[in-house]
Amino acid sequence: MNHDESRSLYDRALSVIPGGVNSSVRATRPYPFFVERGDGAHVVDADGNRYLDYAMGYGPLLYGHDMPDPVRSAVQSHASEGPMYGAPTEVEVEHAEFVARHVPSVEMIRFVNSGTEATVSAVRLARGYTGRDKIVVMQGGYHGAQESTLVEGEPGDVHPSTSGIPESFAEQTIPVPFNDFETINQVFEAHGEDIAAVLTEPILGNNGIVLPVDGYLEHLRDVTEEHGSLLVFDEVITGFRVGGLQCAQGKFGVTPDVTTFGKIIGGGFPVGAVGGKSEILEQFSPSGPVFQSGTFSGHPVTMAAGYEYLKFAAENDVYEHVNRLGEKLRRGITDIVEDQAPSYTVVGTDSMFKTIFTRGGPPDLDGACEAGCEQRPDCPRYEHCPKDASDIADAETERWERIFWQEMKERGIFLTANQFESQFVSYAHTDEDIEETLEAYKEVL
Ligand SMILES: *Cc1c(COP(=O)(O)O)cnc(C)c1O
Repeated sequence: MNHDESRSLYDRALSVIPGGVNSSVRATRPYPFFVERGDGAHVVDADGNRYLDYAMGYGPLLYGHDMPDPVRSAVQSHASEGPMYGAPTEVEVEHAEFVARHVPSVEMIRFVNSGTEATVSAVRLARGYTGRDKIVVMQGGYHGAQESTLVEGEPGDVHPSTSGIPESFAEQTIPVPFNDFETINQVFEAHGEDIAAVLTEPILGNNGIVLPVDGYLEHLRDVTEEHGSLLVFDEVITGFRVGGLQCAQGKFGVTPDVTTFGKIIGGGFPVGAVGGKSEILEQFSPSGPVFQSGTFSGHPVTMAAGYEYLKFAAENDVYEHVNRLGEKLRRGITDIVEDQAPSYTVVGTDSMFKTIFTRGGPPDLDGACEAGCEQRPDCPRYEHCPKDASDIADAETERWERIFWQEMKERGIFLTANQFESQFVSYAHTDEDIEETLEAYKEVL
């Protein structure tokens, strides 16, 4: 593959954009390919190379790169009527009604412009509603580039995970291991009256895809209720992807007080949202005392794209298709891994998938999960499959990034750039694409 054009674009980018990219994860080694255009499930780079795309914009592109017709015409007409106004529009109401109709926890929703903005607003809302300051998060959970959640450490020893955040911010956040009942109990025993919310992804979707073990989300629901804290699900990545239109909360049957959204609900345009019970959501200004506002919030083009996106999913076999291909892919990779790298773990559910280069495992895989780790206690791999962020951190991250990702790319398969970020099957992917992908896995693993 020739990458001359991408390399020269990257050179130019490096002198005017820090690190040459506008989101850190895009800076793949030795340099990223620059995309010229999308085409169904493929992207074409500046040198004319074609890749089968499983990054899918890191989550938003449920349909791949071609907008379904109703989405395209809604976007075009809203853009040409004048992109935005600073006054409310009907399409915001339609979109809000749609989400409230389908997602169990949502009675009301406030739209913002990114997943980060959604979690920032949700944290402020939880603090305002409860009058408490502390937020419990999961180690290895991701809630965007925001001050309250960019922390590392453990209860009693928490620090900002990036430069630029005061220690005093991190003091209000308590990171606990996902799937660990004991630590969350201890944290609530010690600080229950000060905890505004537990903020978690229902599935760790930015850290290798870790599913909750049996009863864990239910336990979070119980313990928050018992202590008057809110349970906030960050469904920015799982929303309208896992569990279809009812989202992951519907799939797992656990209803949080507040839910954050992003990615898919904007139909490929910048978006975020906070939804939940009216009594809580009405704490937002102007109906309540928790300030929340945004010039671009509820942007008509985004709202039109997002609403038509979801409506199209409601009226077509979208989830059936992407989930079937997701399962086919996870099954196929599981077979390959069993032969060629039995210590690796295939993870994911619905249309999400990833291969984690875990080390070790049982000698006998009889009865193991066949289409992605489900955290089943009777699986022979149960003790070995990743349950929290430290298990993912212990896997062969360097090998994944430096060798595996590169070789897949050379074979025209575009995966997300590191072992942590999820990958996605879209409505544009076909059975033939999956077979081609499995061939590449077979050669590279
Ligand atoms: C992507 C993501 C975010 C951040 O959303 P942005 O739109 O990138 O700000 C927050 N939470 C989760 C779970 C995400 O996957």
